[in-house]
This record gives sequence, C-alpha cells and structure tokens, in this order.
Amino acid sequence: MAKKQYAVIGMGRFGSSVAYALSEMGFDVLAIDRDEHRIQDISNVVTHAVSADSTDEEALRALGIRNFDVVVVAIGEDIQASILTTLILKDMGIHSLIVKAKSELHGKVLSKIGADKVVYPERDMGMRVAHHLASPNILDYIELSEEYSILEMKASSNIIGQNLLQLNIRARYGCNVIAIRKGTEMNISPDASDEIQPEDVLIIVGHKDDLTKLELAYSR
Ligand code: ATP
Repeated sequence: MAKKQYAVIGMGRFGSSVAYALSEMGFDVLAIDRDEHRIQDISNVVTHAVSADSTDEEALRALGIRNFDVVVVAIGEDIQASILTTLILKDMGIHSLIVKAKSELHGKVLSKIGADKVVYPERDMGMRVAHHLASPNILDYIELSEEYSILEMKASSNIIGQNLLQLNIRARYGCNVIAIRKGTEMNISPDASDEIQPEDVLIIVGHKDDLTKLELAYSR
C-alpha cells in the first residue's frame, strides 16, 4: 500500500508540530505557508516546503494539492484565510480535511462549510491542564466526543490494595477501566482480580459527568 501523503498549511506552532511529527513517522509532507521565513525553518524537516498563499486557488492547484490524501489547515489568527482556504479545498474535492479552529464559532463555520474534522488544540490542552490542576492525580484527560472522555488517573490512597472487582467502578460510576499502566508496562485487559498497586495508573473511559464524579471521589 502506498504511503499516505499529507499537506499542512500554516506553519505556526500547531501546524509545524503536525508537520514535524508526520515527517518523524516517515510520511511525505508538503508544508505550505505564505511567510517565507516559516518555510525556511521547516524546509529541512519535511519532504517539500513551499511559500504560497492558500487563499489563492490557482497556487494550490499548481502545487497539486488534490493528490494529497489528507490536508491540514492550521491557520488561526486570520479566520477569513482559514475559512476561505477550507472552502477552496473542499470545492477541489479534498476528502480528508482537518482544520484548526480558534473558537467554537470559528469551528461551527468550518463544519458547516465541509471540514471533515475540526480540532481545537488550545481548548483541549487547556482542559487537560485544568483537570490535572483540579486533581493532581489526573495525569491526562482526552475528549473523545461531546459526551465521552478518557481519563488517566494515578492510583489514589483510597483505592490502593483493592482489586477491580472490589472497586466496582463500572457499577458505581458507569465507567470502564480499559487499561492499567505499571511503570513502562501496559496491561490492556485488566482482570477483575488485579489489585491496584501504588504508582499504578488507571486508564478509564466514560461519560464526562460520570468521570467527574469518579475524579472527585478518587482525588485523595
Ligand atoms: P499557532 O499554532 O502558533 O497558535 P496561530 O493559530 O496563531 O498559530 P497563525 O499564527 O495565525 O496561527 O497562522 C499560522 C501560520 O499560518 C502563520 O505562519 C501564517 O503565516 C500562516 N498563514 C496565515 N494565513 C495564510 C495563508 N492565507 N496562506 C498560507 N499561510 C498562511
């Protein structure tokens, strides 16, 4: 199977991180930015780096953007450019278009005009940091949808020594422990008899409201 080809438009902090990570994973990446300096900075990391204005349809066509499997639009400040770029790319028939939004309203517009996925990196990172600050044993919080999330929680003193059957998290909170991390080892099918040890990290999936209740109960 041919390797997927990615194009990333906008080499701000988010766009350049996406381009960098994809390149590290061995994918072909075309990086586009209207700022020549940003292109120079990324040029030795990605396969191709081109200075162009993504609101210029002809320029995008000339770059053969239609041949890319996935296009990421990472323009935040200039909302007009972000919307126009999304519209042009959707019109060109890009099937997988991922667009960064600065606000809920920006995101709503992007979805309406056909963005296949809208991402909110600032909001998501803010939420993750807030959960960690509210209860320091919450190591990570990942939003799966409007209703469901995944929580990474360090074992608190009130659960250490109990097994999953005794904890009965599913019946009590309606959440599921999907994995337990012990140091560098990950147990991805924890058993009811598995006893929670100090320093264990529980990975739990559930409804956001249920996870909040669980967080409060186990934050000691
Ligand atoms: P960050 O990810 O750093 O938070 P941001 O959301 O603040 O970024 P901007 O700084 O507005 O986003 O834009 C990111 C990049 O997108 C900048 O390097 C900018 O030059 C580029 N950019 C903005 N508009 C266009 C455009 N029409 N065509 C190409 N690149 C553009």
